[in-house]
Amino acid sequence: MNKMLTNDQLAQWDRESFFHPSTHLAQFARGEAPQRIVTGGEGVFIEDRDGKRLLDAFAGLYCVNVGYGRTEIAEAIAKQAHELAYYHAYVGHGTEASITLAHMVLERMPKNMSKVYFGMSGSDANETNIKLVWYYNNILGRPEKKKIISRWRGYHGSGLMTGSLTGLGLFHKKFDLPLSQVIHTEAPYYFRRPEADMTEAQFTAHCVAELEALIEREGADTIAAFIGEPVLGTGGIVPPPEGYWAAIQEVLRKHDILLIADEVVTGFGRLGSITGSEHYGLEPDLITLAKGLTSAYAPLSGSVVGERMWKVLEQGTDENGPIGHGWTYSAHPIGAAAGVANLELVDKLGLVTNAGDVGAYLNTQMRDALAQHPHVGDVRGEGMLCAVELVEDREARRFYEHPGKIAGAVVGKMVEKGVIARAMPQGDILGFAPPLCLSREEADRVVEVTTAAVHEVLGD
Ligand code: PLP
Repeated sequence: MNKMLTNDQLAQWDRESFFHPSTHLAQFARGEAPQRIVTGGEGVFIEDRDGKRLLDAFAGLYCVNVGYGRTEIAEAIAKQAHELAYYHAYVGHGTEASITLAHMVLERMPKNMSKVYFGMSGSDANETNIKLVWYYNNILGRPEKKKIISRWRGYHGSGLMTGSLTGLGLFHKKFDLPLSQVIHTEAPYYFRRPEADMTEAQFTAHCVAELEALIEREGADTIAAFIGEPVLGTGGIVPPPEGYWAAIQEVLRKHDILLIADEVVTGFGRLGSITGSEHYGLEPDLITLAKGLTSAYAPLSGSVVGERMWKVLEQGTDENGPIGHGWTYSAHPIGAAAGVANLELVDKLGLVTNAGDVGAYLNTQMRDALAQHPHVGDVRGEGMLCAVELVEDREARRFYEHPGKIAGAVVGKMVEKGVIARAMPQGDILGFAPPLCLSREEADRVVEVTTAAVHEVLGD
């Protein structure tokens, strides 16, 4: 680091030179939007250059699952960098780390998964998965079967295809998305059900009917796959309504539509189960992994391919030659070494169990503290995921006119009090996804600060 650099210079360079993702560019450049320069982290806390210590109740972007400052992973990365910082994985090359990690990943996935392809991000893993789905149907001689069904409010990345799969307006608007191969169906979002008196089971039936109608309109022979997060994440942290996954999978099977489980958030313990697929009984053909694979100590993603697809991919290369897919950084050894150390640590610290136990505690405490507040419409969650949805009128389920403003204000107050939560898009939803190592005392602190901030912004 340049020792001559003062923090003020850094702040100025930040405004002048750095293109921040998911940021109001004009406000940031003008100095109207806040900046935070993060310098360190330990456990569930981060620290910024002003010496402010914050409890990160969103684990970065729900990714630092083992918490900050884990020397075991840092050392594994350093060791790999010293021994062999890079070699590619093309035409049969590998490293001990990438091969070991592939084996460890498969041990943790549902049965009938066959191989792991490693990329760098959740977005590129989903791009890989869609390419594999198209390739698969071409090899099977059904080139018309290509469309992908995603859900409104699903989040699958922000590339061209993955931004299309994402069912949130901001990711489409002015980008000429979604691409025509992507179609969206109802979000399994019970709190926003179309009729107030619907039971969860009735709402599930409604989601299934919507899916059936979409398939009927488009024609099952044009639809290749359905992609979904076991629990809707960025779209609002919404666990599925009763019976949802069993009923959806029945429809997909009937129409020979592949299932892609996007486990970028739920993979490796966040729900208190090793995968969301295990948690809800999904039998996917493809699984998308990222975040918790390395706890974000290095960028790495995984596309896990099921047996039935794998056989066809092999057939494809017998017919057409080597698969035309790969990146320079596929299976990067440093990412793979981080992944191996991370998964070992998840086991050693019992973080899957802790996510279930402390996550349930966090949800219960949050519900007890806030569910009766006149502007809290819903408190929901699963494992170490929790959301508090704020509304104008609780009884009428009337939402605020300018979505995001109130939640933004609450989250801002929380930061002043030392806790980071996330205002989720398209609503006034406070999102919580702390590191899986959160303790009960730390959960209490999150609830206390959230409650105080809600009362300060919205009154009693
Ligand atoms: N899929 C899900 C479920 C996600 O939550 C995310 C990111 O939040 C992605 C995919 C995209 O991952 P990345 O941001 O690493 O590209």
